[in-house]
Amino acid sequence: MLPADNHVHSEFSWDTGVNASMEETCRRAVEVGLPSIAFTEHVDFTEWGDHDHPPPAGDVAQSADVPAEIAERERVHAIDIEGYLASIERCRGMFPDLRILSGIEAGEPHHFEGSVTAVLAQGRFERVLGSLHSVVHNGRLIYADRLFRQLPAHVVVRDYFEELLRLVEGSGVFQVLAHCDYPRRYWPAAREGEYREADFEEEYRAAFRALASSDRALELNTTSPLASTTLMRWWYEEGGGAVSFGSDAHVPLRVGRLFDVAVDIVEAAGFRPGRDEYDFWRR
Ligand SMILES: [Zn+2]
Ligand SMILES: [Zn+2]
Repeated sequence: MLPADNHVHSEFSWDTGVNASMEETCRRAVEVGLPSIAFTEHVDFTEWGDHDHPPPAGDVAQSADVPAEIAERERVHAIDIEGYLASIERCRGMFPDLRILSGIEAGEPHHFEGSVTAVLAQGRFERVLGSLHSVVHNGRLIYADRLFRQLPAHVVVRDYFEELLRLVEGSGVFQVLAHCDYPRRYWPAAREGEYREADFEEEYRAAFRALASSDRALELNTTSPLASTTLMRWWYEEGGGAVSFGSDAHVPLRVGRLFDVAVDIVEAAGFRPGRDEYDFWRR
């Protein structure tokens, strides 16, 4: 039995295309034998709300007159919560043998504490992921992949991990840390050589320690270049108690993708299936 897919997007996420479909994703999940899926739609923001925490303005001259605004989020739009929750209910009726969880993927929840909390208050969200897609640069949030065009790759990734630690320590709204090394998806290998986890071992371990001490789960994300046993082993050694599997599928065909490989990786690091087929894997 494959583990639950705890990270899936549907037409209710702002970055999905015409092929996204909650219903088709459920159909596919049943086909490939997943016991459970969670629709963790993107919750990102383009404005600062009450009780949010904008990053301090950068200390370089260029940013002195730039307000701490959110940069480069032109495509982001708010989730239609009512439509989303109605669609979840409809799919639960259509696919009674599949456990369907509601959820969100909260982007930069340590900066958007007030705004995320306001979304979570509007419905029942069973699976909450915390994600870092952007890094603070000159007081603005810039997508990590765009920073690779401006800065040496190692600098971008180190900044990312520093921000990731602030996210883990600064936000309690999420239960699973998604794709902990997201920028590696965009690592400029042609210019800088292959991405090597070992170059950032201390940074990984620091984030894992903080996550483990708050008793939350680490995600193995099968869209990111597949995490290694080494990385999962670091999670285990730093006290990590639970692993969540996530395909990060944005189209139906990708749900549960590479989970057969992923379970071997996680098992080799010392984790085992949890209480039941819906649970995280545990140490
Ligand atoms: Zn993400
Ligand atoms: Zn995602």
